[in-house]
Amino acid sequence: MSGIGMHKFSTDNKSIWKPDLAICPYCGDESCEADFCDVGVGLVQCGPYHCESCGAIEIGAYDKKVELSAEEEEFGWYKPNRPYEGCANNINGVLIDHKLAKKMYDVGLIKQNG
Ligand SMILES: [Zn+2]
Repeated sequence: MSGIGMHKFSTDNKSIWKPDLAICPYCGDESCEADFCDVGVGLVQCGPYHCESCGAIEIGAYDKKVELSAEEEEFGWYKPNRPYEGCANNINGVLIDHKLAKKMYDVGLIKQNG
């Protein structure tokens, strides 16, 4: 799945094997990463971009519709530390990476989304 974020990118790798880093629309951190999955012919985004500096998270294209602030609508990112209600991999609202998610999925702790 991919997100609907309106962020700019801080890198311009132009490579399907080397995803660009996004710039956080809230705090300007230039090293926001997303989870990417290897689909054989390249990497596709399989999780939202998220900012480790302030906790903002890109809104997913298939997230449950929630009420957004004007800022969130404009950026396409949830504001920092908003209780996470998206469909990305999360456990009790805490975002986890796709490797851990896969593990939890394998043992039946979470369901596949999207
Ligand atoms: Zn940030």
